[in-house]
Amino acid sequence: MDISIVIPLFNEEESLTELSEWIVRVVTQHQLNYEIIFVDDGSTDESWKIIEKLHQVNNNIKGIKFQRNYGKSAALNEGFRAAKGNVVITMDADMQDSPDEIPELYKMITEENFDIVSGWKKKRFDNTFTKNFPSKIFNAAARWSSGIYLHDFNCGLKAYKNKVVKSIEVYGEMHRYIPVIAKWSGFRKIGEKVVEHRARKYGKTKFGWERFINGFLDLATISFVSRFSKKPMHFFGLYGTLCFLIGLCMSLYLIIAKLTVTNFALTNRPAFYIALTVMIIGMQLFLTGFIAELIGRNAPERNSYLIENRLD
Ligand code: UDP
Ligand code: MG
Repeated sequence: MDISIVIPLFNEEESLTELSEWIVRVVTQHQLNYEIIFVDDGSTDESWKIIEKLHQVNNNIKGIKFQRNYGKSAALNEGFRAAKGNVVITMDADMQDSPDEIPELYKMITEENFDIVSGWKKKRFDNTFTKNFPSKIFNAAARWSSGIYLHDFNCGLKAYKNKVVKSIEVYGEMHRYIPVIAKWSGFRKIGEKVVEHRARKYGKTKFGWERFINGFLDLATISFVSRFSKKPMHFFGLYGTLCFLIGLCMSLYLIIAKLTVTNFALTNRPAFYIALTVMIIGMQLFLTGFIAELIGRNAPERNSYLIENRLD
């Protein structure tokens, strides 16, 4: 199979029929063998009924239905598990992404050999203040911390080689950082394509303003986990030791001063309290690192590596 199109959706009944017709039109025109996987993330409207109907008419259209709403990442993850095509394309169900981009994305993966191609909504049709501006800051932070130069991390329209989606796991709200996750797994050829973005035709956005706070927290987790999850002591141990040493030097100075200088008012000095606090913080950081190492030793995936090739 050439191509799997994974579409996470949550209460998008109005667009499904129109969207799937459009996709089918585009892929048949380009003679691509395809499947469309609708992942219904616990919709409470008629979405699933519509998917069932579409499946009856065209069995290239498949569906997965969650019992409840787990979030876009979970939906993508399930879609990825099920995808059989050599190229996997994800897109939103709200018709903000145009299926006309599919052939070009497919080509970039198969001919130009990209591992991932991410859409870039260069001209956006969303609210400037609540979305476009915060998203600029967010993307700058993501670029800076991941070293991946994408303009638009959060674009729903992306294309992947099949082995990329089979090697990564997305959960929580990590769908914004799939390129970052893929990069840790060793997929480095990450490209970008300017895509057409359209205003939301039906329904309304499923993500509110919390998206930005959650987005930044996830970014912190992700960059931290990628760097230190296999060696937490290198972070906590280093800073813990540094803090402790600074505190120790200050205390030594204070002790010597107390012993040599007459009328040295030890407890009246800010340095005294700073030295104590810094030593305690240092100790805590060190112990946190130590405990994290112990947990790491027991993690079931401590020795699971992605193997690209093997000759035997
Ligand atoms: N979505 C989902 N589960 C959720 C929230 C959203 O599957 O809990 C889907 C939604 O139906 C849409 C896509 O994720 O297909 C992007 O959502 P939305 O269009 O609301 O986000 P925005 O375009 O505002 O960033
Ligand atoms: Mg949308």
